[in-house]
Amino acid sequence: CLLCRRTEADPDICGDKQENHGLCTHVFCLNFASLIFRQDNDRTGFMGCRSRDIRLAVSRAAQKHCCVCGETGATIMCCQEDCDRWFHLPCAKEGHCVTQYITPYSSYCPEHCPEQDVRAILEPGTECPICMEPVEERKSYTTLVCPACKKAWFHRDCMRALLTLLLFALQGQALRAGALYFQCPLCRDDDEFAVQMFIMGIRIPFRQPTWEDNDAFAELGERHSWCNARKCLYPGGREGAEEEGPWELLLCSSCAAEGTHRRCSGLRNNTPSWECDSCA
Ligand SMILES: [Zn+2]
Ligand SMILES: [Zn+2]
Ligand SMILES: [Zn+2]
Ligand SMILES: [Zn+2]
Ligand SMILES: [Zn+2]
Ligand SMILES: [Zn+2]
Ligand SMILES: [Zn+2]
Repeated sequence: CLLCRRTEADPDICGDKQENHGLCTHVFCLNFASLIFRQDNDRTGFMGCRSRDIRLAVSRAAQKHCCVCGETGATIMCCQEDCDRWFHLPCAKEGHCVTQYITPYSSYCPEHCPEQDVRAILEPGTECPICMEPVEERKSYTTLVCPACKKAWFHRDCMRALLTLLLFALQGQALRAGALYFQCPLCRDDDEFAVQMFIMGIRIPFRQPTWEDNDAFAELGERHSWCNARKCLYPGGREGAEEEGPWELLLCSSCAAEGTHRRCSGLRNNTPSWECDSCA
């Protein structure tokens, strides 16, 4: 990739490689590159960018040092006026830079990254409702709060994992419009919550989860997998389950935050999916 100068980059961060007119770039490296102007109706360009502009960006980047790794070739500039910090897209996470994966693809250095404008009190010992581990005791790059209930605090990495898990839960099912409820596990707000998480740089995974990810998902899934039925009938208890049949655990196909044994919700033994009460 001309812009990040890496051959092996995390496709989750940089996106797929695309080649056009002899220029090879990652999709997101191009989207985030500062000062490349996009012609909305110019179909002759490369994703709306003229190759002349891309070459210009590359030669300018040769003078720009990355504020994270110190190397030259940084193509992304902090959006804050008067800030002259540049960085590489693959360095963003390590350097706590925020990159918003929604148009207009704004990026911020650690000093100017958007803060959650939420007056919330973080009690000592607060646990992340996703991993049940304590969160850092202040608002920070790695600690996010739900803007709606102001009670749920999350690790940034857990938030991404939750979103990935949701997509995974939906795989293999017809994706209905609006089936993806990206919501706060505590208060179930999915409006303010989702918007704010995208502003803070959480994004929908670029690639579909693959079977190689299964271990990671299984581990995360286990934490959510118990029977939430009002009355659980399984002799082995809410956390026990069988591979198939009446005692297989189904996770809610919309929120993945609740589960049930088929029998406990009166489902047939071959019912493939289920939605919890708050989602149905
Ligand atoms: Zn790249
Ligand atoms: Zn760098
Ligand atoms: Zn800045
Ligand atoms: Zn967590
Ligand atoms: Zn909430
Ligand atoms: Zn049950
Ligand atoms: Zn649900």
